Amino acid sequence: EDIRVYEFAEACGKSPAEVITVLFGLGMMVTKNDFLKQDELEILGEEFGIEVTVKDALEDVNYVEDYHEEEIDESNFVNRPPVVTIMGHVDHGKTSLLDKIRSSKVAAAEAGGITQHIAAYTIKQNGQKITFVDTPGHAAFSAMRARGASVTDIIIIVVAADDGVKQQTEEVISHAKAANCPIIVAVNKMDKESANLDMVKAQMAERGMTPIDWGGDVEFIPLSAKTGDGIDDLLENILLQSEILELKADPNAKAKATVVEASLEKGRGPVATVIVQNGTLKIGDNIVCDTTYGRVKAITNDLGQQVKELGLSETGRILGLNEVPASGTVMVAQETEKEARDIATTRAEHARAKELSKSTKVSLEEMSGLIAEGKIKQLPVIIKTDVVGSLEAIKGSLEKIANEEVKVKIVHAAVGGITESDLILASASEGCIILGFNVRPTGSVKNKAKADGITINTYSIIYDLIDDIKDALSGMMSAII
Ligand code: GDP
Repeated sequence: EDIRVYEFAEACGKSPAEVITVLFGLGMMVTKNDFLKQDELEILGEEFGIEVTVKDALEDVNYVEDYHEEEIDESNFVNRPPVVTIMGHVDHGKTSLLDKIRSSKVAAAEAGGITQHIAAYTIKQNGQKITFVDTPGHAAFSAMRARGASVTDIIIIVVAADDGVKQQTEEVISHAKAANCPIIVAVNKMDKESANLDMVKAQMAERGMTPIDWGGDVEFIPLSAKTGDGIDDLLENILLQSEILELKADPNAKAKATVVEASLEKGRGPVATVIVQNGTLKIGDNIVCDTTYGRVKAITNDLGQQVKELGLSETGRILGLNEVPASGTVMVAQETEKEARDIATTRAEHARAKELSKSTKVSLEEMSGLIAEGKIKQLPVIIKTDVVGSLEAIKGSLEKIANEEVKVKIVHAAVGGITESDLILASASEGCIILGFNVRPTGSVKNKAKADGITINTYSIIYDLIDDIKDALSGMMSAII
């Protein structure tokens, strides 16, 4: 994939004009700088009689985020702390809960009096670490997941005991279920007089989140972010769940961390808050992060202290990238700075070229619209028949009924059944219909044609076919007049 028309032409010893002509003949408008789509490549391969294998151009650079089999040594695996995300309806106490957990578990002196917003932090409960991530909302959470970042191990859904399930709670349930990780329901504001735990349980059970004490499998923890009651229960429960998950990683592996937040800071440059997923991220590491790269210059942990490294599931702010990466992108350590730079540059160039190609496509589409409105009027058809004799007869007749204004354009004519590749051809050529003579599409091709909005007409008498096309052409002609 991702080969331009002229590059393809070069690779198979043709001129770009030849390639463009073939595609143009099939109703596909391209310029020599456009990227070829998979179906276009297949058609070209067929046309030129060469074998085309479609390979992902970014395969080599994208592979850096994965581990090669020989890099994975399970004997190095150690338990890693769970990473937890809290989500819920607005005002149900997500921020209060995050703040309360942090302030009750991290000594004020240790935290250096940090009160500012923090995207992620790690606490200790009975000597065991838990990392909390503050995602800006469930939409952002799912956007991160869509980008392939699955940083969260356990999801906490906060529901206010005095308010119950609300619209965003329902959305959160869907997002959490889609993430396919364990869910704990934190029933907050239990200190309020109007708190009603059973109401929340009933409302959640109705939505497929049945409490354990009601015979289901979801843990409900009543608590108060205001008084702190129940918070230890919540933390104990998180540790219990994480034990079941058997979260493991290799502290000596190539470092890999997910960006949860990033920004450009005055005098410091791009700063990325990350959570380490595997390995140990150290000062001096050469890193690549999507299209950005750099060398780790400084690390600040969640307590605001300068540290030399971040271990498994730990979080901190990284200085040293050349640009601000997007949330959800993955930072990976490379052997050399050159490697990191090369990977990032390749990806960036690629992204830019894709953008450019997109914008030329739009103007080409406009052009094709003009052609449709204007002088060139044609009815593109694909003809499939049972024998060569009828194919020649139909081709000849259709060519004869052409006049100055409208003509039949034979996109493809061949002996054989109507197949999926005919559909691909037809959909690439606007307004193209498929004519079958004594041949029929299979059930699956029929269904696909319907879904794609492609007309397939089948005939057993040649004159019926010719008459239909004549009618179609006259219809088009009257539309012009
Ligand atoms: P968020 O929008 O989910 O982040 O909610 P906040 O944490 O900002 O809380 C919304 C409001 O509820 C604030 O006024 C909090 O003081 C209040 N609140 C949060 N938790 C509790 C609680 O456990 N008890 C009581 N009484 N109020 C709470």
